[in-house]
Amino acid sequence: MTKEFTEARIRAVMARHKAGFSKKLGQNFLADPEAIRLIAEGAELGEQDHVIEIGPGIGVLTLALAERAGRVTAVEIDRKLIPILQQTLTGLDNVDIIQEDILKVDIGALQEKVRGEHPGLEHLKIVGNLPYYITTPIIMKLLEEDVPAESITAMMQKEVAERLTASPGTKAYGAITLAVQYYCTLETIAQVPAESFVPKPKVDSTVLRLDLRKEKPVDLIDEKLFFEVVRAGFSMRRKTLLNCLTGVKGMSKEEMSGFLEGLGILSQRRAETLTMEEFAQIANALGE
Ligand code: SAM
Repeated sequence: MTKEFTEARIRAVMARHKAGFSKKLGQNFLADPEAIRLIAEGAELGEQDHVIEIGPGIGVLTLALAERAGRVTAVEIDRKLIPILQQTLTGLDNVDIIQEDILKVDIGALQEKVRGEHPGLEHLKIVGNLPYYITTPIIMKLLEEDVPAESITAMMQKEVAERLTASPGTKAYGAITLAVQYYCTLETIAQVPAESFVPKPKVDSTVLRLDLRKEKPVDLIDEKLFFEVVRAGFSMRRKTLLNCLTGVKGMSKEEMSGFLEGLGILSQRRAETLTMEEFAQIANALGE
């Protein structure tokens, strides 16, 4: 059974180890058994799964993951939390703790190593109550490095989750929306209020599961060019598509205007109204 971590218990554990909560490292620990259960169940774990947990903190979520998965590798950057984690996780023989910056970890190599040592761990699933200050860099690292994971179940600031799940034509829709939706389908697992954390952050949170797509939603001639077009499109939010895309592939304003017209895309539109298919259409035509 998962030991319950109340606010008082988390504060007591930290005090016993003379450890403070580092704001810089985004240390807001979960003190909500229901939220912990929702994350662990939302990740859909089984005996054949190896979980890499990003930022285990003092191990509150790690316990729930270890109960459900074949094996958990918990990657925590903060040296001072390692002895606390070792204590929280005492007696569990399916958890490894690594003290490292997740942005520097070669996830593919780590998965290969764990699979070699523990045959049968066929699937990699990544889970984390992510530190707010690097949520987007972590997600983009995992997606761009093409890590061999099936899913990423992550708690993040509510507003970031709204951006990732946004639809065209909304304020939250942007370059990050298209990047994440190109690689994944997304499911909202839970809404978690600020009161569920110790210390209490200023923002509410959302848990999303990002399932990595086996097939991409659009066919691209050149992925790099697609993302260049997307980034350029959203570079000046209040400007028209024509203004934003002028200069891409060295095209003048007149050339870009004629080019968009030829594709049947109104150059006075704004990037946030374009679907992924329309961005793909522009990028593929530019790449020809
Ligand atoms: N999983 C714990 C929980 O739910 O209570 C802690 C979550 S807390 C929001 C984020 C954790 O990520 C902290 O323990 C912090 O030290 C750790 N962290 C911050 N930056 C990190 C990085 N670059 N690599 C690995 N862990 C990091």
